Amino acid sequence: MATQRDYYEILSVERTASGDEIKRSYRKLAMKYHPDRNPDDAEAEAKFKECAEAYEVLSDSEKRQRYDQFGHAGLKGQAGHDFSHMNAGDIFSMFEDIFGGGMGGGRGRRRGPGGAQRGYDLETQTEITLNEAFTGTTTDIEFTRQDVCDTCNGTGGKPGTEPSTCTMCGGAGQVQQAGLGGMFRMVNTCPNCKGAGKIYLDKCTSCRGSGRVAKKRKLSIKIPAGIHDGQAIRVSGEGEPGSGGGPQGDLHVVVRIADHELFTREDDHLIMKMPVSFTQAALGAKVSVPTLDGETELTIKPGTQHGELFRVRGEGMPDLRSGRRGDLIVALLLEVPTKLTSRQEELLREYAESEDHDVLPENKGFWGKIKEHLG
Ligand SMILES: [Zn+2]
Ligand SMILES: [Zn+2]
Repeated sequence: MATQRDYYEILSVERTASGDEIKRSYRKLAMKYHPDRNPDDAEAEAKFKECAEAYEVLSDSEKRQRYDQFGHAGLKGQAGHDFSHMNAGDIFSMFEDIFGGGMGGGRGRRRGPGGAQRGYDLETQTEITLNEAFTGTTTDIEFTRQDVCDTCNGTGGKPGTEPSTCTMCGGAGQVQQAGLGGMFRMVNTCPNCKGAGKIYLDKCTSCRGSGRVAKKRKLSIKIPAGIHDGQAIRVSGEGEPGSGGGPQGDLHVVVRIADHELFTREDDHLIMKMPVSFTQAALGAKVSVPTLDGETELTIKPGTQHGELFRVRGEGMPDLRSGRRGDLIVALLLEVPTKLTSRQEELLREYAESEDHDVLPENKGFWGKIKEHLG
């Protein structure tokens, strides 16, 4: 398996890195990709192997020099370089030679029965109003998670019975399996006892031996002012329970904000459509505009057009961090009256007669084009 990736890149070190730096970085990566921490993960296994190979070269001053000078080609035919002939055990022992079993257990004492594993993270949703997003709120959520079974306390065994030694792994909690197409002998968590080394022959009837049951859980969570639609709040330790004494996962609450009948939101700005009568637009007016926490007054200048935008500073949503408020953008909607009293109609007809349709200053060009069309 001739990998062509740069060894320095694999170990995330500079080409000028000292032996100590290389060792530190390798140790960090090897811990990360160690098969004990990544059971049944072929990708991690390959990375683990790749790091070992890079380290094997870069930690040896002679090989490093050849590699620096000639690249991968400089190492061809070098004994010990071709890792395809090395099995996982060899790499493990190399790893442990270097670090003295720093994975918290020597060889043959891998994760061991009852190795700690963090519980899964969960995600749930909650919907709040725009007003609640504006002020911040506390909301109750209910979700279902796999929790420790009360009947058996999570052991999966029938209460009052004792577990027997697992026959598949003989109590070790691990089995040897071939990995990477037989090139590796991998030590994996025993699938029969899931690493516990012991197994209950009589299963708990409440959880059918899994040790977990689905339970509803209610929580009250705080939602900060200024939260955006789709943002998640992390509630640490409210995910699924870990195993073997591992910590509980986290819960992510995705906040959805319901549509508001007046306002739409654009970042921290609020946008609303404000209907005004055509006389208000033509003559100018002061109108009251609703905001999320009251109302504000808007001055419409005479001759305001349909769709014109007004910006009211500081009447938008608060910024999640600073609390600084965005703006309120008001788009004017010109409303044409649908019911006229006879007096109003009379006045409008009089007004219409006074209008000169040949000269509409704002839209001269537009009317001009229409006239051309009409001939
Ligand atoms: Zn149970
Ligand atoms: Zn087993």
